[in-house]
Amino acid sequence: MNDNIVEVKNINMNFYTKEGELEVLKDVNFNLKEGEILTLLGPSGSGKSTILNILTNLLKPTSGDIKITGNIGYMFQEDNLLEWRNIMDNITIGLEIQGKKDKKSLDRVESLLKTYGLWDFRSMYPKELSGGMRQRVALIRTLSVNPDILLLDEPFSGIDIFTREKFIESLIGYMDNNIGILLTTHELKEVEN
Ligand code: ADP
Ligand code: MG
Repeated sequence: MNDNIVEVKNINMNFYTKEGELEVLKDVNFNLKEGEILTLLGPSGSGKSTILNILTNLLKPTSGDIKITGNIGYMFQEDNLLEWRNIMDNITIGLEIQGKKDKKSLDRVESLLKTYGLWDFRSMYPKELSGGMRQRVALIRTLSVNPDILLLDEPFSGIDIFTREKFIESLIGYMDNNIGILLTTHELKEVEN
């Protein structure tokens, strides 16, 4: 039986810029199974976001094959919160788009907001929150649609150590749902956690 939920085979990615051809990914291969957390570690500019963008079809690789089994939740490197919507309305935007803003999903959002210490902030606006809080809002927005595969692009940048530990714990708790997590980082320290 093959239980890979993500398969990446021989991915190459070249960008064509004014300065010429930029070879960003060369023969990248990996698989992700249910219940696994996989970290893509590399310095800034090494192509981590590019890999996630390829997995979510935002970019087409120059060559290679990918296979995805399940729904993807993607947390971008930037939080991309909408400043004119309050925290609750930012979080439920994905549910709205998918027509899934029902009682069950809203209960799930409530429980996530409480887990991440943001329940009391639900009526506030993004500009009233710290960087770390905004990032947690972006995470809850991603989790609210119940993804099978979670892609997190540098989820720890801008989060203090204390929140980081809680964040990692909650992600590990979340693994009970048999999802797979692919995250990127440029700090070796985070991988050791
Ligand atoms: P990382 O996420 O590891 O910091 P990125 O995947 O964002 O790296 O970028 C890898 C390299 O590809 C960088 O040199 C970046 O400038 C370049 N790059 C990313 N997207 C594009 C694009 N759309 N066009 C041209 N170059 C790009
Ligand atoms: Mg990046």
